[in-house]
Amino acid sequence: MNIKSCAVCRFKRKRCSETSIMAPYFPISRTAEYHKSQNVSGVTNIVKMLAAVSPHDRGATVESIIMDGTVSYKDPVLRTLEIVLDLRSQIHSLKNEIVTLRHKLAFLPEREKQPLEASVNIPQIVRV
Ligand SMILES: [Zn+2]
Repeated sequence: MNIKSCAVCRFKRKRCSETSIMAPYFPISRTAEYHKSQNVSGVTNIVKMLAAVSPHDRGATVESIIMDGTVSYKDPVLRTLEIVLDLRSQIHSLKNEIVTLRHKLAFLPEREKQPLEASVNIPQIVRV
C-alpha cells in the first residue's frame, strides 16, 4: 500500500494523485471522518463543493462537511438540527442582552457614557 495515500484513495484502493483536490484535506489520519462525510454527502458532491469555493476557503468547507458527517452519523434523523437550534437560542439570548445593555446605557449619565461608548462596539441587531 502507498504510504502517502489519502483516506479517499485508500477507500477507493487506488494510487493517490498529487493533483487530487481532496488529498490535502483527508489524510490517512482522517479516514474515519472521511467515511462519515462521504456517507452523508457523497464523494462527488464533496469534490463539487471543494471545487466551488476558493482554495483559501476549502479548509473551512471540509471542516463543515466533516462536522455534518459526524453529527449525522450520531443522529441520522435530526442531523445538525440540534446545533442549529442551540445557535439560534444563543443568538436570541445575546440579542436580549444587547437590548438590555442598550437600555442601561441610555439611562447612564453622559459623563459615564463616554468611556463605555469608546471602548465597547455594540453591534446592530440583525434579524435572523
Ligand atoms: Zn489520494
